[in-house]
Parts: sequence; C-alpha cells; structure tokens
Amino acid sequence: MLEDNFGRQFNYLRLSITDVCNFSCSYCLPDGYQCDTPRNFLTLDEITHLVSAFADVGTKKVRITGGEPCLRKDVVDIVAACKSIAGIDEVAITTNGFNLMEKIDELVAAGLDSLNVSIDSLNPAMFKLITGHDKLKNILAGIERAIELGVKSIKINAVLAKSFSTNHLGEFLTWIADKPITVRFIELMETGDGAQFFTQNHISGQAIKAQLLEAGWLQLVRGKQAGPAQEFTHPDYIGRIGLIMPYSPDFCRTCNRLRVSALGKLHLCLFSESGIDLRETINLNSQVATIAAIRHALDDKTVSHELAKRLTGGTKHLAMIGG
Ligand code: SAM
Ligand code: SF4
Repeated sequence: MLEDNFGRQFNYLRLSITDVCNFSCSYCLPDGYQCDTPRNFLTLDEITHLVSAFADVGTKKVRITGGEPCLRKDVVDIVAACKSIAGIDEVAITTNGFNLMEKIDELVAAGLDSLNVSIDSLNPAMFKLITGHDKLKNILAGIERAIELGVKSIKINAVLAKSFSTNHLGEFLTWIADKPITVRFIELMETGDGAQFFTQNHISGQAIKAQLLEAGWLQLVRGKQAGPAQEFTHPDYIGRIGLIMPYSPDFCRTCNRLRVSALGKLHLCLFSESGIDLRETINLNSQVATIAAIRHALDDKTVSHELAKRLTGGTKHLAMIGG
C-alpha cells in the first residue's frame, strides 16, 4: 500500500490522458486550449504499465481525466486496459460530455463503472456562456443513456461561481428528484491563470449546505475510504447532493488520491510546484523501478495544499492535470 508520512493511504489514481480540451470554461480555459505544451501523451502501453504498477501497491480505482479525455481516439481502449488490470475494481471517467451520447455504449462495454460529467448550469444559455458550446441538450441525452445502461455511479460536477451559480440549486434539485444521480457542487479553486476570476467569483459551499439542511436534507456519515465530498440525501429525492469544499481547514486530511499527468508526471497534490517525471522509469519496463519511484516521491507529499494563503503551486489551470 502507498502511504505518506502523515499516515494517509493512496488507493485512487487520477490519470490524465490529454491536456487538450475543446471547451473554454470561464474558470479553466477561458481562451480555449493553447497549444503551448508537448503533445506526446502517454501511450496505451505506457498507461497499462503505469496503472499495473499502481495496482501492485494497492490502487483500486482509476479515474481517466484530462483536458477532455473523450477527445482521445483510444479512450475506449484505455478504459478496457485499465479495467483488465488485476486489482483495479473501479474505472471512472470525468468528461465534459460533448460526445457522451456517441461514446457511452462503448465505454460501458469496455468496463466503465463510474461516470462524472461537468455541468455548471442547467440553463442552456448560461451553459453556453460558461463553456463556449451550445451542447447541454446533447450532454443531458448522453446522461439519460448512461442511466438506461445502468452505470453504477453517475455524478455531475458543478463549479460554484458568483457569476453563474446564484439561485441554481432549485434547478438541480428538480432534475435529480427522479434520477439516480449525485450533483456535486465544487468550490472554485484558485489557479495560476485564474486569480482574477477567482477573486471575482469565489463563493463558499456553506450557503448551499445551510439551504439543504433547512430543506430536510440529511448529511451522510462518510465512509473510511470516502473522498473529500460531503454527501446529502432526502427521502423525496432519488438523487443526492455532494459538496466539495477545498477551503475547509481539514480538507486534505482524507486525501486518498495521486495524480499522473498526460505526460507521465506524478503530482502529489493538485497544487504542487511541479510533477515528478515517471516516464523514463515507465519505459524501463520494470514494475519494481516504477513503484520505487512512486514511493520515493511520496516522501515529499505535504500535509495540505496552501490555497488559503493563495499559493497555487505550478498549476496554471486544472486542465493541465485533470482536476
Ligand atoms: N474536461 C473534463 C471535465 O470538464 O469534466 C475533465 C477535466 S476538468 C479539469 C475536471 C474537473 O475540474 C471538472 O469538473 C471541472 O469543472 C473542474 N475544474 C476545473 N477548473 C476548476 C477550478 N478552478 N476550480 C474547481 N474546479 C475546477
Ligand atoms: Fe475543458 Fe474540463 Fe477545463 Fe472545461 S473544465 S475547459 S471541459 S478541461
């Protein structure tokens, strides 16, 4: 098992497979994807080697992310490869959903267990304003198809921002009343390129929590292996609500995840200064060497991010690493 100096164990890998994205979300890539980094992303073979090494030391869950992971032509093969690795119990994907309707059947057939789709507003005009794309209807159809196919876990990620989140809780609640979906509101995090947007838009998730509790929603007790989201249920709703509040003082206490970028760099935190290059070791084709490199790096994992001091490390935007 991978463990850091603070006793935290890491059984969850977030693997970015591209940093390219076709959307221009106002809090992430407001000017769209800039072709300013190399594009020699980890190959299917390299991914298989890397995930096998993580699985050997206790990783149970892999999330495929990006940029936009579904832009990669071999995304279905990547899901299938991860699913076939001994020890990996759950393969998840985080996507903007632009081609979900076309891809979901194949992804599920390849073994996809969990689907996260980012939707910051259920109002089509607002959705277009945030992302630059008039795709909401299509994305919602893809989610309906995922429900039909019986995908075990379907979550929506909705970033909270002053300019687009005011009064939208009601819309999301109506939508999940009869759907087995969890909507997770995520507090906006500051990034290197996003300081101004952050200053103008950051709002705490506490107001939503208070509204939920007042409306009879009950907070679930978190499981030992649960991630950082606080989850709420209500007897009148099939769906659930989650809140991710990275500015809460003890947010990092339950950290159970490591990240690898599309270029094969291990990121110990979303906001670390830089990634540790695993690619050379991956290409030695030695599980032992890859595991040793991961363990060695883990020694430097800090107890917490320093977002409260407005230190965002080397992270220009979350599309670089996968969120
Ligand atoms: N393109 C895919 C998507 O949007 O789902 C996957 C990558 S995206 C970087 C992963 C998640 O990070 C998305 O849910 C997105 O909303 C979230 N995200 C991006 N920038 C963020 C920020 N500054 N603060 C909080 N969440 C952010
Ligand atoms: Fe692209 Fe996802 Fe960033 Fe939006 S949040 S710009 S979809 S990477």
